[in-house]
Amino acid sequence: AKASGRHRIVLFDESMDTRVRDAILIDEALRTAIGANEFRLVFQPIVDAHSGEWVKAEALIRWNSGRLGVVQPDRFIPVAEENGMIVEIGNWVLIEACRTVRSWIDASGRELKVAVNVSALQLLDRRFLDNVDSALKASSLPPRLLELEITERVLIDDENAVSTVIAALKARGISFALDDFGTGYSALSYLHRFPLDTLKIDRGFIFSLEQSPSRQALVRSIVAMAGALSMKTVAEGVETEAQAGLLREAGCSYMQGYLYAKPLERSAILAALSAERPA
Ligand code: C2E
Ligand code: CA
Ligand code: CA
Ligand code: CA
Repeated sequence: AKASGRHRIVLFDESMDTRVRDAILIDEALRTAIGANEFRLVFQPIVDAHSGEWVKAEALIRWNSGRLGVVQPDRFIPVAEENGMIVEIGNWVLIEACRTVRSWIDASGRELKVAVNVSALQLLDRRFLDNVDSALKASSLPPRLLELEITERVLIDDENAVSTVIAALKARGISFALDDFGTGYSALSYLHRFPLDTLKIDRGFIFSLEQSPSRQALVRSIVAMAGALSMKTVAEGVETEAQAGLLREAGCSYMQGYLYAKPLERSAILAALSAERPA
């Protein structure tokens, strides 16, 4: 038992080394990523649960690093949150997302709302309000076409500061979605204290929904609770018709997932808008 205990400690140390080395490489490469134009956005449609019509698109960042190759957001976003670069990266995303929607409107005459992920550190940065205002102004995008996705972590962070920022942005006509609902702290008490518009049910609940009556019950309660608070719901990671059917039955408002569309290049979204595929 002693020997295997020692063995485990050694393995743990080695895997930590790898993670630390990984994070250092990412940290260094991130510092030059914006300047070297290594980021781009893709957009995943979010559809009406009944008509299938595209109602919005979530902007998702992609990074092709000159030094590291393609790095997934799940690997570099935590590093950027740790070293503070998420503020600058998040601002780039905001500007680029607004500019892209403007280009779609100009080219197709069609309006699609864009949902942008915002990290806690970014929302609480003192320049955030100004940054949102400049992004909207630079693209002359109506604020009603911008939705900000925040996580439960943000809400428990600094309640007063967060309320003030959310209220100021809501007053401009910007809407808010609560991302990854059900994965974090899920202290339901905060839900009615923040005027959020949409609740995104985490993929963890949707995955194998067909096989799990208890998850089906949970999803039905989440949708009912959101409705009682006048919030819309989005189901994340919908991959099968069976899941979509159960979610529609539960009363879920919108769907997002590979069943409908993968994250698409901006040109592919424009092509679809121009072809009038979404009604
Ligand atoms: P998220 O905000 O929960 O985004 C949804 C993720 O689920 C995306 O992964 C998307 O590609 C993936 N997805 C969508 N539909 C399906 C499906 O049907 N099945 C499966 N298996 N996956 C699906 P992605 O693009 O790799 O992003 C991962 C996470 O990185 C995001 O999770 C978000 O937390 C973060 N992220 C991405 N872009 C940004 C950004 O611009 N700013 C910030 N702060 N975070 C971002
Ligand atoms: Ca999101
Ligand atoms: Ca999510
Ligand atoms: Ca998620």
